[in-house]
Amino acid sequence: MSAKVVVLGAGYAGAGAIKQLEEELPNAEITWVSDNDYHLVLHEAHRVIRDPRVKDKITLPVSDIKSPSTRFVQGTVTGVDTNERTVELADGDDVDYDYLLVGLGSQTAYYGIPGLDENSLTLKSLDDALEIHEAVADAASEASRNDPAKVVIGGAGLSGIQSAGEVAEYRDKHRAPIDIYLVEALDEIMPGQDPELQGTVKKHLLEKDVEILTGDPITEATEEEIQFDEGEPLDYDVFLWTGGITGREAMDDCGLDNEHNRVTAEANFQTSDDRVFAIGDCAIVDQGDNPAPPTAQAAWQAAEVAGKNIAREIRGQPLATWTHEDKGTVISIGDEAVAHDVPVVPLNTFNSWPAETLKKAIAARWIADMTSWGRAVDAWDSL
Ligand SMILES: Cc1cc2nc3c(=O)[nH]c(=O)nc-3n(C[C@H](O)[C@H](O)[C@H](O)COP(=O)(O)OP(=O)(O)OC[C@H]3O[C@@H](n4cnc5c(N)ncnc54)[C@H](O)[C@@H]3O)c2cc1C
Repeated sequence: MSAKVVVLGAGYAGAGAIKQLEEELPNAEITWVSDNDYHLVLHEAHRVIRDPRVKDKITLPVSDIKSPSTRFVQGTVTGVDTNERTVELADGDDVDYDYLLVGLGSQTAYYGIPGLDENSLTLKSLDDALEIHEAVADAASEASRNDPAKVVIGGAGLSGIQSAGEVAEYRDKHRAPIDIYLVEALDEIMPGQDPELQGTVKKHLLEKDVEILTGDPITEATEEEIQFDEGEPLDYDVFLWTGGITGREAMDDCGLDNEHNRVTAEANFQTSDDRVFAIGDCAIVDQGDNPAPPTAQAAWQAAEVAGKNIAREIRGQPLATWTHEDKGTVISIGDEAVAHDVPVVPLNTFNSWPAETLKKAIAARWIADMTSWGRAVDAWDSL
């Protein structure tokens, strides 16, 4: 009997692994489970804040990614029973597996800060991005030059900065009265990154009239305002929180070892249960002292090796060890972009059209790998 391999999630981790598994295991019974029947190019989801029509370009139907022999089950995973080897779905229909790959991504972390969960918007899905667009547009329509709408973005990592850039593009395109604030608890934006990159991104944000507040953690959020450890409270019309990630609730009680709710895995992606592999944002994969960041780039790389490793496990072959390769950072600030530490490029940090083209090319390459170059070319202007 052929092995039953089940993949959870249709993000970079899940979609990438499906491609690899189909190549490695033509005779396996592969089942792909996800809550939506499309893959969202999440690392470009912030574009929807500016223009909701972008959604059609960054959602790829699973039917265009998988081969006809792979079964797709649309459903919300509520748990995994590793003893029974079943995935539990919200509609009660369980899915059995011999080998499981978990690629469920992450959810927003609120760190127990009072009122944050209840009063902020998040950016983790297409619906989130559309909701932010609506909230910004509504607030702008009720504002005036004398009383502009205040859009506050908490967290100055990749998603917060790129979202601020898109709100700025929306403001400029619609000549909308909007003040934009980017709030970061630590002393610098893009915490932990090279100061040259931080400085260049900051310059672009300031040129786009984004006010940057750093070094003062949010202590509470109410319906009207955000309170800080030291500074004066900041009232808002739209509050987007992008300040951290944690693992998916669905994996809470599955008995697998985890750290901060993210499943821990060896460098070969095997979890504390040999039959269960985990990759992408939902996992912390052992990389010694240099843990891989929760990025699309890392999930994309991991998916390829994880797919091969499940095939090796089924064949009784030794598993490969994954080493995350940092291929640099490319970040958009509206129509502009900054690239840093990109291999082969002699400049450490660069911007203007080379960075903007690189940003587009990365997303286009992913879309082409998952579906077709035709779809990638069609999406180019939206990336
Ligand atoms: C606005 C934004 C900008 C970003 N920019 C960059 C960037 O420039 N570069 C970069 O490398 N990274 C970037 N990232 C991070 C990157 O998008 C993530 O690291 C990446 O998406 C992780 O891939 P994943 O497959 O682990 O999870 P995801 O892409 O989040 O996929 C998770 C999948 O699981 C599904 N799912 C979740 N829960 C359930 C459930 N209970 N039941 C069924 N299905 C479920 C989801 O629908 C989804 O299909 C950005 C993120 C955001 C939000």
